[in-house]
This record gives sequence, C-alpha cells and structure tokens, in this order.
Amino acid sequence: MGNKPSLISKGRYELKFRGNKCLNCEHPLDISDKYCPNCSQANSTKKLVLKDFWDEFFSSLINYDSKLLKTLYAMLLRPGTITKHYVEGKRITYTNPFRFLLSLAFLYLLLFSYNNNFSNWDKAAEKLKPNMTSDNPISLDLVSGGVLGDSTKIKEQVSQSLKEMDSMGLTDVPASKQIQYLDSLGVFNGQFVENEARKDSIMLADPKTYFKKLKNKSGVGGLVSKMEFFSNMIQRDSLTNYEEAQREYGVDGALSSRIAYSSTSSLLRVIKEPGSFVNATIAKLPFVIFFFLPLFTVFIWMVYIRKKYTYTDHLIFSFHNQSLLFILLILSLIIDSIFKTSSAAIFLLIFSFYLYKAMRRFYGQGRFKTIVKYIFLNTIFAFLALFVLIGLFTGSVFTY
Ligand SMILES: [Zn+2]
Repeated sequence: MGNKPSLISKGRYELKFRGNKCLNCEHPLDISDKYCPNCSQANSTKKLVLKDFWDEFFSSLINYDSKLLKTLYAMLLRPGTITKHYVEGKRITYTNPFRFLLSLAFLYLLLFSYNNNFSNWDKAAEKLKPNMTSDNPISLDLVSGGVLGDSTKIKEQVSQSLKEMDSMGLTDVPASKQIQYLDSLGVFNGQFVENEARKDSIMLADPKTYFKKLKNKSGVGGLVSKMEFFSNMIQRDSLTNYEEAQREYGVDGALSSRIAYSSTSSLLRVIKEPGSFVNATIAKLPFVIFFFLPLFTVFIWMVYIRKKYTYTDHLIFSFHNQSLLFILLILSLIIDSIFKTSSAAIFLLIFSFYLYKAMRRFYGQGRFKTIVKYIFLNTIFAFLALFVLIGLFTGSVFTY
C-alpha cells in the first residue's frame, strides 16, 4: 500500500494523528507513512469515536463499490481480460475472485428461493396425503403400495373390457368365466398383496420377533427389509430416535441397522415435506460449487496443457466465468420478477457467447481450436454437473 492520494486523508488519518511506531505491530513508522508497511494498519493515534466507524464503514463500502464496478465492467465488456489482468498481477483493482463468486452464489440463491417458493410444495404434499396417520401410512414399498390401493379398480376395468369384447363376439369363452379364472390365479388380489398384508400384521403384532428374523438377512435385501420395518414402526408407533428402537424392539446396534433407520426417517421426512427438502438441498449449492469448479478445472488445465498458465490460473478463469454466469442469472431473475417472463434461456445464450469470447482472449488461440475445446469442455461440464447434482440430491435424501 503506497500513499496514494485517492485514499482517504480525513478524520483519524490526518497528519496530526500520525505516530512514529505502529500500534499494531510496533514497526517503526515515518510521519509520512499513511499505513504501516509491515501490517498495513492505518498510522493513527487518534482515539476512536463512533463517527470514525461510521465514516470508515461508508468509505469501505464505496471502496469495495468501485472495485465491484470495475470488476463488473471488465467482466461484462471485456470477457477474459479480467482473468488476464488478475493472473498477470493486476489484482487490487478487482475483487477477490473466490470471495466474489461466493457472494454472487449466495445472492443468486437468495433471489432464486424468493422467486420459487418451494415451501408451497409442503402444503401440496399435505393435500396429496391427507392423513398420514397410523391407519394410513405411507408405504415405502412402492409396488405393493400401488397394487393394494387399486386391486378393485383393476378388477372393474378388466371385467368391463372383457364384457365389451364378449358383446362384440370377439371371444369364445364368456367374460364371467374369464374373470373367475383370472381371480383364481390371484391376479386381482394376488398372493403378493396378501403376503404384504400378512407381513405388516406380523410386524405389528410382535416387532421384536420380526426384527430378530431380519437380523440374519444381509445385503441389499436385508437393508430394504429393515427399512420397511422401520418405516412401519416410525409411522404407526411414532418412533422418534434410534435408542427408542433399540429399547422397544430389541434392535441391534449394527451399522446396517443404523443406516436403515436413519435413511428411512430421512426418506419419510422428504416425502412429508418435499419443499423444505428442496430448499435445504439448494442451500448447499454454493458449497458444492467450490468443490465442483476445482474438479472441472482439471479438464481445462488438461486441454490447455501447453499454455504457460498454472492450475491456479485456470481455476481463477473458471471462477470468473462462473461469477459471470451468476451475474447473468441474477439479471434474468430480476427481469423475470418485474416482467413476469422467463428469460433464463436468453441469458444462458448470452453467457455461452461470453464464454467463447473469454476463452479466445484468455488463452489466445484461433477460432477453430477454441471452438473444438469449447465444445469438449462444455460437454464435460454438463456431465460433471449432472453427476454432482444427482449425487447431491440422493445424498441429501438419506441425510436429510
Ligand atoms: Zn504494523
């Protein structure tokens, strides 16, 4: 930090308040030093009053603001230049790329969740399952859950169509006989459904014995059976924690049982409150980006291996571009909420143009090479993002 005239020289920075050593690190100072060259604390011996804090707060805001404006200006008007400057050492002019991206990600999520109110999903889910009581639990077993509810409906539909065929003379055997035959095979309320119902009643009558039998089951099948057991118990018996399960049903402390329990209770909560779940998962995205971009940058680094840039240089490039994407998406959200449209696609198109320009300018290669690398890197980006999102959501379901 030099003694630039642009920096503030009023208030506690006035000449009369300057000392001959730094109050922070005791580095000897000259009266002309505005800041300590060792720790960059202001050279001032003035006692602080509230007004100083007030003034400094605003000046720092303006100071950040001008940095902010310069960063925004460079990003929007000269894509790629900002990274070039930053990598070459012209840094204090611009905001720190890592902090900048984090702030933008949070701002974007704030606006995004304001525009898309996912908590409405909770209410919708409540309406869909009007009474998730002990008499009407959510079935984690999707197959039997579906068949159980509709067996009479299926029977009606089948007999209806068979009767129609009969009346048109399309079959040799009368419809009533066919239905009887299908019924005897157990198509409508077949063995499968019966088994499920029997299993449920055994489970509820003597949970301890039932779980003992499950203990010996291993692998995925065992895990699923345990989850089914816990799903029933949590809903019918208002089981609230694992210790309770151990006390009441003699559940063991095995890792597989614990995993089964926690994932079941998470899953039930997700089904009950899907909106809150989506909100909680989306809130994790800024952190995910900070893991995702370094991974993606490995590919950029590979594609431009012959360039003199280091891995960190490539990382700054991808942070700058991600920041620009957030800036454009924020603009799109603002426009959407004012004009009640959806402009995201247009802004993504604008971004893809910016990205190409940035690659051209930062890496300085010809059109053809840049286009090939552009397509390759975007494909990689899309695949990685898809995997990460799937991983994020499934991971969230079991830890919610
Ligand atoms: Zn100092």
